[in-house]
Amino acid sequence: MVFSSPTGRNRQSPFGTSDDRKKQVPTFRLKPKDPPPPRMPSADELLETAKVVALPMRTRFRGVTVREALIFSGPAGWGEFAPFAEYDDAEAKTWLAAGIEAAYLGPPAPVRDQVPVNATVPAVAAEDVAALIARYPGVDTVKVKVAEPGQSLDDDVQRVAAVREHVGNVRIDANGGWTVDQAIEAIAAIGDLEYAEQPCRTVEELAEVRKAVRVPIAADESIRRAGDPMRVAALGAADIGVLKVAPLGGMRALVALAAKLPMDVVVSSALDTAVGMSAGIGAAAALPGLHRACGLGTGELFAKDVASSFRIEHGVVRPRRVEPGIDLPLASDERTAWWHDRLRRCHELLIRR
Ligand SMILES: [Mg+2]
Repeated sequence: MVFSSPTGRNRQSPFGTSDDRKKQVPTFRLKPKDPPPPRMPSADELLETAKVVALPMRTRFRGVTVREALIFSGPAGWGEFAPFAEYDDAEAKTWLAAGIEAAYLGPPAPVRDQVPVNATVPAVAAEDVAALIARYPGVDTVKVKVAEPGQSLDDDVQRVAAVREHVGNVRIDANGGWTVDQAIEAIAAIGDLEYAEQPCRTVEELAEVRKAVRVPIAADESIRRAGDPMRVAALGAADIGVLKVAPLGGMRALVALAAKLPMDVVVSSALDTAVGMSAGIGAAAALPGLHRACGLGTGELFAKDVASSFRIEHGVVRPRRVEPGIDLPLASDERTAWWHDRLRRCHELLIRR
């Protein structure tokens, strides 16, 4: 689709991926029932309704104990801008495009009214596993974080064994923490799995591991942080693609990429607040083929969210529009100013390209 710019000239949608632009494939095609294209809001307009929140986590996750996010509202609802602090503006701008899509256009037409989700077990001690899984009623798939710095392979083996006492379907996520040799050794030690997600850092390493083991390999960072998300397919590096709305630039960009990737996909959150989660669930609900549980139950990791969390019942969540509550845990003035500046810089990059 074409997005109208503040100057009235038509520009490329900020929601497509760079790969799509190169191939001139429209990623934002509107279905007849979709609302008309939004105009690009100004940064001032976005900041008028913006709130910067600092959500306390129940358990340290991805090195994070407080998750900061900027949320804003538009005619279609609320959008989230929450790239991790270490991401530069060039990477963070797609997260803003995703937030604008959510607030100004809303989700694409759904094809299902419920989305199966997995439980997520951070790098905790084996004895803490049962209490964590209990937060996910009816869930039959658990994703276990492994390869945490400072922990041993034995810790990973014990944590996975503890999870297997509760559910049959286990997947692991190493977040690129292993070398090829370590990954092959670890996967052999851990045993049968639904898949091993991002065992190593690079696409080439994933391809090597995939050739050496029978456990399927999933690519996450190799898709969302890569210039060309199709490389994992070209190099035979993965059996499953883990797709996230914000780093891909929106729900429609995710659905378009899923259609092109010759592999199963799983939609996952990037430690999103309930606002970002609504977009993840909206994208998963719009995917024609969805055969695996999605990583969209991570609201359970927050001690307090911006709105009531998506309730997991019988292992599924249902898409819905989110309205943030009134007593939000707001960030300090200093952090709020930091996020406002970041939004302005990313907005400038989006309207310039
Ligand atoms: Mg991952």
